[in-house]
Amino acid sequence: MTGSATFRLAALGLLLSLPLAEPLTASAQDLDRVRRTINQLSSPALHGRGYVQGGANKAARLLAQRFAQIGLIPLAPDFRQPFPLTVNTFPGKLSLRFDGQQLRPGHDFIAEPESGGGKVSGPVALFDTLIFSNEAAGRRFLQQPLQNHVLVLRQRDAERLRTLPEVFMRHVATARARITLVPNKLTASLADYQATQPQLQVLAERWPQTAPRQIAITVEAVLAANYTTQNVIGYLRGTAQPDSFLVVTAHYDHLGRMGKRAYFPGANDNASGTAMLLELAEHFAKPENRPAYSIAFLAFGAEEAGLIGSRYFVQHPLIPLAQIRFLLNLDLEGTGQDGATVVNGRIHERAYQQLVQLNETGRYLPALAARGRSANSDHAPFSEAGVPAFFLYLRGQPTFYHDVLDRSETLPLTGFPGIYKLLLDFLRLQGASSPSK
Ligand SMILES: [Zn+2]
Repeated sequence: MTGSATFRLAALGLLLSLPLAEPLTASAQDLDRVRRTINQLSSPALHGRGYVQGGANKAARLLAQRFAQIGLIPLAPDFRQPFPLTVNTFPGKLSLRFDGQQLRPGHDFIAEPESGGGKVSGPVALFDTLIFSNEAAGRRFLQQPLQNHVLVLRQRDAERLRTLPEVFMRHVATARARITLVPNKLTASLADYQATQPQLQVLAERWPQTAPRQIAITVEAVLAANYTTQNVIGYLRGTAQPDSFLVVTAHYDHLGRMGKRAYFPGANDNASGTAMLLELAEHFAKPENRPAYSIAFLAFGAEEAGLIGSRYFVQHPLIPLAQIRFLLNLDLEGTGQDGATVVNGRIHERAYQQLVQLNETGRYLPALAARGRSANSDHAPFSEAGVPAFFLYLRGQPTFYHDVLDRSETLPLTGFPGIYKLLLDFLRLQGASSPSK
């Protein structure tokens, strides 16, 4: 914290000698390209960039083509660093029916990440919340046979169940199937294992006032074991100090498909950050913008499966981690009317002050906010390995997240040009100053 005032002046001095940021632009043209990239990545043809219909791998192929067009140098054959993962997928039938009603996958219900498969029908057993306060009710619940029932419980009760002795969770697992009613919104995720019973998440408002008597569920679940996916990795060689690296990262994968029709477009998460990475690469690849340091561009796979691609890279680095001067991770760059949050902003004080200064000078974003550490995206494995890193994300509407509504059509890109310029200034400043920790 000390010395930040002196530092500000020093940073300002450096700034005066830097060329002004290239406008992304005022110009509709580059923002058109950004929109085209996001449209393409979030289109049904890429199947939600997951592990059904080869979606993630199609996206990787596309990115490798873009890297080549831009003129990046591959750090692995065809820019690709393959690695395996195990992930539960829902490639086929997915249906939920009760009392003659058919709910819509993606909109009314989704499969829980670890859902097992099966074609199941049976009477409903409503979870009795008395068991949290009444021992006798707890004993009754444990004696109630659930093998033929579809157990229905509210999300808050499902969470509270974990605080009870394990015997309760084991009993819940004996139900034929399980439905969790969630308030407000459905939120999908990925799991690396498969439970024995079908498990669905249902929007509470779609659940009838009077509980239905019979429910029919069909889930086709396939545990894809040792599935090969990849990181896409390229770089631009520095003109003065090629062995020092600035690094830009973004994950290109998302949650894939759920059932035959529903898919997760992942426009904000993270077609937007991937588009930003490509725009920064386009900029620095131009002969007049060639950086003094090398700049690596790492598009990670399998972030949504638990930061698997970035962890793999840190364990098998294609550039020495010790030679990374600073890393910027980009995830959720499609909104922005409320400004940006900088994860690790409280850790790397000097660098954060640089960002704030640059943002004030350029009036790029309405506000910056610093956070401490968080393992919420691909910067985390690098941070843990001692690489100075920020994760910048934009805040604003809409807040669609891990649902079928995260589409390009509703993504405003309000803060995109601003954060683009801020990132450019920051990268140039890192290239011009001594290392910031
Ligand atoms: Zn995500």
